[in-house]
Amino acid sequence: MSLEKVRERIYKAALRAGRSPEEVTLLVVSKGQPPERLLPLYQAGQRLFGENRVQELLSKKPHLPADIAWHLIGSLQTNKVKAVLPHIVLLHSLDRESLLVEIEKRAERPLPCLIEVKIAQEATKHGVLPHELERLVERVLASPAVVLRGLMGMASLTEDPAQIRREFRLLYQLYRRLAEKYPEAPIDTLSMGMSSDFEIAIEEGSTLVRIGSAVFSDLD
Ligand SMILES: *Cc1c(COP(=O)(O)O)cnc(C)c1O
Repeated sequence: MSLEKVRERIYKAALRAGRSPEEVTLLVVSKGQPPERLLPLYQAGQRLFGENRVQELLSKKPHLPADIAWHLIGSLQTNKVKAVLPHIVLLHSLDRESLLVEIEKRAERPLPCLIEVKIAQEATKHGVLPHELERLVERVLASPAVVLRGLMGMASLTEDPAQIRREFRLLYQLYRRLAEKYPEAPIDTLSMGMSSDFEIAIEEGSTLVRIGSAVFSDLD
């Protein structure tokens, strides 16, 4: 089963990097997969699933066990905030003040969030630019509506592992600085690494990898 293979690769990457495998959490990205394909993974013990679209998350969730912890990893439009808030335990894509303002209007309990940072070279990737991060962090930490848990980022889609490594290394440095500057905040999550680059991400300090195709491909 592919879930096992991915877990094993995570385990080995952590050991290679001199890290404890328990420091790295696997979020299975289930976008594009019907609920029945998630069930075997649930039965194998997987409880964390991530979706990148609100509508898909909301339509899938009722068909699956209630103790699944759902993460929203895709960019969030302000008009979908109210609908999705009660259904997620972590938002990976807080990337602008207007989104925070909307969460402040709608949240009935503090929402755990990661700030998404743009580390890739591509123009299309979402996220706050590294030099704008501090400003958003100050705003987020002052807000009672959210709990800042860390950062998320996506590396460039490139064949060049050195570039991917550089981008992950930058995100790790931003994350470390954040944790050091605000020791009272519960900063413990660095979400980086997908099917094509999660081993590099783990070597560069990721604490949470978001993996879709590598888990599901063998089941096809
Ligand atoms: C789809 C997606 C992933 C997982 O991608 P795979 O290559 O299938 O592992 C991770 N993060 C985000 C934000 C995604 O949209």
